[in-house]
Amino acid sequence: MASPTQTLEFQAETRQLLQLVIHSIYSNKDIFLRELISNASDALDKLRLESLTDTDLAADTSDLHITLEVDRQARTLTVRDNGIGMTREDVVDLIGTIAKSGTASLLAKIKEAKDADAAQSLIGQFGVGFYSAFMVADKVTLHTRRAGTEQGTAWESDGEGTYTIAQADDLPVGTSVTLHLKPADGEDGLGDYLAGWKIRQIVKQYSDFIRWPIRMAAESGAADEAVDGAAGAPETLNSMKALWARPRSEVTEAEYNEFYRQISHDWQDPAETIHMRAEGTFEYEALLFIPAHAPFDLFSRDTKRGVQLYVKRVFIMDDCDALMPNYLRFVKGVVDAHDLSLNVSREILQHDRQITAVRRRLVKKVLGALKSTQATNTEAYLKLWEQFGRVLKEGLIEDRDNTEALLELVSAASTNDAEKPTTLREYVARMKDGQDAIYYLTGENRQMVENSPHMEAFTAKGYEVLILTDPVDEVWTDQIPTFDGHRFQSIAKGQVDLDHDADGDVSDEAKAEKARREQDFADLLAWLETTLAEHVKQVRLSTRLTTSAACLVGDAHDLTPTLEKMYRAMGQDLPPVKRILELNPTHLLITALHQAHQAKPDDPALTDIAELVHGSALLAEGGDLPDPARFTRLLTDHLTHTL
Ligand code: ADP
Repeated sequence: MASPTQTLEFQAETRQLLQLVIHSIYSNKDIFLRELISNASDALDKLRLESLTDTDLAADTSDLHITLEVDRQARTLTVRDNGIGMTREDVVDLIGTIAKSGTASLLAKIKEAKDADAAQSLIGQFGVGFYSAFMVADKVTLHTRRAGTEQGTAWESDGEGTYTIAQADDLPVGTSVTLHLKPADGEDGLGDYLAGWKIRQIVKQYSDFIRWPIRMAAESGAADEAVDGAAGAPETLNSMKALWARPRSEVTEAEYNEFYRQISHDWQDPAETIHMRAEGTFEYEALLFIPAHAPFDLFSRDTKRGVQLYVKRVFIMDDCDALMPNYLRFVKGVVDAHDLSLNVSREILQHDRQITAVRRRLVKKVLGALKSTQATNTEAYLKLWEQFGRVLKEGLIEDRDNTEALLELVSAASTNDAEKPTTLREYVARMKDGQDAIYYLTGENRQMVENSPHMEAFTAKGYEVLILTDPVDEVWTDQIPTFDGHRFQSIAKGQVDLDHDADGDVSDEAKAEKARREQDFADLLAWLETTLAEHVKQVRLSTRLTTSAACLVGDAHDLTPTLEKMYRAMGQDLPPVKRILELNPTHLLITALHQAHQAKPDDPALTDIAELVHGSALLAEGGDLPDPARFTRLLTDHLTHTL
């Protein structure tokens, strides 16, 4: 009962989309194979499912697979599956029409799009699937027979305005799509799609984890390269091992580690493995790893993020920045989202609400894994912190949703113990009665911070100070006000009053003593302020010094010198940040200067001393002298006079 071949027109919108595809909206043509294999894989899934639910369906599901066949003579590439297949109506509806809602408005928007990038990102919202075949083929033939039916259908089109449809007899159940490849002109690399190596490479890259075997058929008459091993036995191109899709209980640690090494190119096992599955409206699986050591380029400007995106086991992209924030760039792994278009673009992912929700959840999982290591294995945690602490602290600036969790993870050197770092929680537990702030000092290295004059009173009075020496510490301490209700207080900033009792009160005697001293030194302070006006904004008596003569401090909201330097290095134009010079009224140099000034306020030598005091304070905290040559000359002159 042969029926004539019918010629039908593509629905208008389908035609428009085809034009877009043919005139190559994609720079990467390789993806056509990924799309066709993905369709075939879905068809195999459907047949298996239907054979389970419909016991009447007489379908052979014993060897479900996908076959790729190359015919170099005819310049064709065929993707064949023994899946569910399509009826004639299916073919007209599914292949001849773009049934998806919103196609028309999408096309309108694409037309309006200003440039290729905008068009590309719009099209990413839309799987072009089957039609991508026309990027590489000037004619596509499809043969298909629906499981449970007898009659097969042949479909053919050159992708222009029409397609033909006819009955086809003696077809096996399933679908084959044959691409008549465009002539290779060398420029667009089309010639390669007949080459075994190229097909293997594309399958490996995009379809390795497809759960059905993808076989390369031996080319008739040319069994040379398509076949490995025994002559005639088809070669399976994909590994099919999508670990993330298996239940956790069925995956061994060795398998996780092997998989990690494969995706990370790391030679060590990961420190943490996180395997999760989300069901419900947006289904996905994630398999993430925290490496045991940091990559060498963790701080280079264009370090990639380590999470790959898959859609139903089809590889979509590396370095999926929408799924992992920058401060977790060291996390490696795979996220397989089920309900995304294969053509989804980075721009779309960035604005997708569901992806944002996935990212939030993944971040919580990673921070949770770190937290539980911290709670159960301090030694292992400290090793991780050593590797990634600096990057995690960037999260304190970047990710305000997780400030609390990140602060709990912070591990910092402290004056409490020279060997062992402390957590903020441990610090808080050790705070003295009446102490209301978490004291810290930032600087270039531990030794400089520990020996800084700012430390003196704190050390003398037994207050613990956190020693923060990463550049990022300057920034987050500036932005995060409190931990667990206790404010962060730089001991190089603001006024310090350690002479209080357990309730935080300062005694009347102490207050009176302070007032008396200030009175006493008032003239000297006023004179110094004028003399050093170019360098400092104020000169006052200090309560933070015990052995040093002087130190420099900032107001509570002033930039620290390091931060000032950092901003300048980044090219920011800042007004000079003047600091406050604090003098130790019990130091011999200061009392002598005080007396000399009282006796002979106009002595020019006093100006030199003032400059030397200021310069020494700057040097003591590791700062840079405004004029080192002048400082050295003044110092040498005065030393010469004393000898
Ligand atoms: P998508 O895969 O995004 O739905 P396609 O244009 O690639 O879009 O395919 C449209 C529809 O055609 C599919 O949803 C499927 O129902 C059907 N189809 C495509 N390829 C096959 C195949 N190999 N076997 C069975 N059905 C297929």
